[in-house]
Amino acid sequence: MIQADLHLHTLYSHGANTPFEMHARAKELGLSLIGFSEHSPRPEGFNYKREYRDQLRARLGDYVREVQALKNKDDPCRVLFGMEMDWLAGQREFTGRSCVAYDFDYLIGSVHFIDRWGFDDGDEPWRDASLEQCASWYRQYFESWLEMINSGLFNIAAHPDLIKIFSVDKFRAWLDKSESRELIYKGLRALKEQGMAMEISSAGLRKACREFYPCPAIMEMARDLGLSVSLASDAHNVKDLAANFVELAEYARSFGWSEQTIFDHGRTSALPF
Ligand SMILES: [Zn+2]
Ligand SMILES: [Zn+2]
Repeated sequence: MIQADLHLHTLYSHGANTPFEMHARAKELGLSLIGFSEHSPRPEGFNYKREYRDQLRARLGDYVREVQALKNKDDPCRVLFGMEMDWLAGQREFTGRSCVAYDFDYLIGSVHFIDRWGFDDGDEPWRDASLEQCASWYRQYFESWLEMINSGLFNIAAHPDLIKIFSVDKFRAWLDKSESRELIYKGLRALKEQGMAMEISSAGLRKACREFYPCPAIMEMARDLGLSVSLASDAHNVKDLAANFVELAEYARSFGWSEQTIFDHGRTSALPF
């Protein structure tokens, strides 16, 4: 059984529940460890359609206090204090400052934006996009992903092939090309060099792509490199906490993994599943 869910959001961004409610649910489910990884407020100009920057900024202190209170509790379900950071074009310094704004236990690095476009914010531009157009977005995404990893700021690389979210068939076709795989392979090799873990996430099952992040082809490459992994639901509410973890464990095990790496304030440990 997977004992830890290390990618969780709360109502402080666009989630539905408080850290306390998420923690109570994790206990009900029998998890022994959870990590809160709320979004970090993005700089101006990087906006989702329903942007939550202002409320997140205003209440970030509450998030930190609530998570710290849970962390300090003597409880069968331990809590880690993390954050999910966006890797954004031209914002290296901003992100670097956000990474040291609090005393985090671990940090997740994510690419949700191509330039100023939040590409996972609705399927509209994807619907009529040609394979050529999509291929160019895939390339830009993985180039940014590589930069994010090489920045050395993060412990875990989130949802590695999030870019497939609204175009999974085209993504598969693109992935068949050797130059596509070479680009992804560069990112995976960088993960290894940086001592980071690759996230394997059940969130994709709940999205239009209807498959885990990452897909089997990337799982194989990561396995061949001997990468460590982090398992997560990316839940934004109590219902999705540890969602599909039985299937997620089977999926990860089918590629040979049987433990996930935990990052806790510079220390790493392995938790079997
Ligand atoms: Zn994310
Ligand atoms: Zn997330």
